[in-house]
Amino acid sequence: MSSYDVIIIGSGPGGYVCAIRCAQLGLKTACVEGRETLGGTCLNVGCIPSKALLHASHQLHEAEHNFAKMGLKGKAPSVDWKQMLAYKDDVIGANTSGIEFLFKKNKVDWIKGWASIPEAGKVKVGDDVHEAKTIVIASGSDVATLPGVEIDEKVVVSSTGALELGKIPNKMIVIGAGVIGLELGSVYKRLGAEVKVIEFLDTITPGMDAEVQRQFQKILTKQGLEFQLGAAVQSVEVKNNKAKVTYKLRKDDSAHTEDADIVLVATGRKPYTDGLGLDALGVEMEDRGQIKTDGHWQTNIPGIYAIGDAITGPMLAHKAEDEGMGVAEVIAGQKGHVNYNVIPGVIYTHPEVANVGQTEEQLKEAGRTYKAGKFSFMGNGRAKANHAADGFVKILADKDTDRILGAHIIGPMAGDLIHEICVAMEFGAAAEDLARTCHAHPTYSEAVREAALACGDGPIHS
Ligand code: FAD
Repeated sequence: MSSYDVIIIGSGPGGYVCAIRCAQLGLKTACVEGRETLGGTCLNVGCIPSKALLHASHQLHEAEHNFAKMGLKGKAPSVDWKQMLAYKDDVIGANTSGIEFLFKKNKVDWIKGWASIPEAGKVKVGDDVHEAKTIVIASGSDVATLPGVEIDEKVVVSSTGALELGKIPNKMIVIGAGVIGLELGSVYKRLGAEVKVIEFLDTITPGMDAEVQRQFQKILTKQGLEFQLGAAVQSVEVKNNKAKVTYKLRKDDSAHTEDADIVLVATGRKPYTDGLGLDALGVEMEDRGQIKTDGHWQTNIPGIYAIGDAITGPMLAHKAEDEGMGVAEVIAGQKGHVNYNVIPGVIYTHPEVANVGQTEEQLKEAGRTYKAGKFSFMGNGRAKANHAADGFVKILADKDTDRILGAHIIGPMAGDLIHEICVAMEFGAAAEDLARTCHAHPTYSEAVREAALACGDGPIHS
C-alpha cells in the first residue's frame, strides 16, 4: 500500500492536468488510469484523433477545390485510408506518450488499472488499496445512446468507431447535428462519402447563435452535406452489413426510411462514473448522472472532489483542464477559480466556428440592451487571398457601457481568433479597447477588430 496527498482517478485533460499541477504545488500525487494509454477520451478517441482526420481530409479538399485556382496544377491526391488511419494513430501515440513523459518529469505516479473508492481516503486498484488525503474523480464521459438504436461499432458506430472505420462508406447517416456529428460528417464528406445528417431539433448546433447556425448550415450544404431537421429517429435496423434508419418528421408525424452503409450516432455524451462505488459511499448526484459538487469542486463527502465531464457544465477538454488546475490549487490551500462565463466553444470544420459568452438570443431573453458589431470576412484581404472569405465575426457589447458580452465567429481560424476576445472579456474590456488596438495587416484578426469598430463608429472595410 502506498500513501499519497492526492490520488486522481482518470487521466483525461481534467485528470492529467490536475495531477501535474498538484505535483508542481508540492503534493505527492498519483493518477489512476484504466486505459492502456494516458490522455482520456480527448487524446485517445476524441479531440486529437478527430482533428488529425479533419486536417488530412481538409488538405484533400484544398487540393481538389483550390489548388488549380492558384496555379497549382497536377493530379489531385488519392486517398490511402489505411495510411490516413496510421497517421491518426501516430498522432495519438505522440500525444499520449507526451503525457507519460510529463508524469515522469513532474514525479506523478501512474497507477495502472480501474479504481474504486471503498471509503473516503482510500482508492482500490486491483488488489491494492492506496491511501490518499484527497481524492479527485476525473472519470469523464461515455457515448450516450438512443432508444431503438444499438451501437455495434461496425455498421452503427459511435464517434469512437467512426475514427477507425474499415473503409470509407459510400453513404453515411449521422444522427445528431452537434459538434461531433458535423466534424466527423465533414471528414467523410470530404473523403467522398454521401453524408446525410438527421437532427431532432429544427436547427443545427443547438444553443449556438442563430445567425451563425443559419450561415453554418448554408456553408455545409454548399459543401455537399444533406440535412433532415425536425426528425426523430425511431430505429436503426442492420441487415447484411447495411443499415436502415427509420425516422418520423415532427411537423406531420410522417414516417420515412433511408439506407446507409454506416450510421454514426452523435447524440451526445453522458457522465461516466461506473465502478467507482459512489452509491455505497453516498456521493450525491445530479439528475442527469453528474457528480454534484460545490463551487470548489468538492462533493458532499469531505476529501472527495470531482471535475471535468463527470460534473455539470460543457463537456469540453479545456473546461476539464481549467477545473483540474483550479481544484489542484484549492487542495494546495490556494484560491483556485474558473470563470465559467468565458469558456470558448469551437467546431473544427472548415470554416471553423467559435463562440464565447452570450448569444443574441440569451441577451434578448434576459432583457439586456446590447449592440452587435458584425464584419464579414469578404472585407478581409487575407481571407479573400486564401479563398476563405465565407463567414463573419460578430461581437456583442453592452449598449451603455460597451463591455463585451459575447462573440460569435464563423470563418478561417475562428478557433484561434476567439481567444483575443476571451482575454478582452477576462479583463472586462469594452469593444472600443479592441477597436483601438493596432492589428497587424494582413491577418484574419483584422476582422475581429473591424467587428469591434462596428460596435462604435463603424468598420472601415465594409
Ligand atoms: P475523459 O477525457 O473522458 O477521461 C476520463 C478518463 O478516466 C478515461 O481515460 C477513463 O478510462 C478513465 N477512467 C474512468 N473511470 C475510471 C476508473 N474507475 N479507474 C481508472 N480510470 C478511469 N473537447 C474539446 O474541448 N475540443 C474538441 O475538439 C473535442 N473533440 C471531441 C471529439 C470527440 C469525437 C469526442 C468524443 C469528444 C471531444 N471533445 C472535445 C470532448 C473532450 O474529449 C472531453 O470533454 C474531455 O476529454 C473530458 O475530459 P475529462 O478529463 O473529464 O474525461
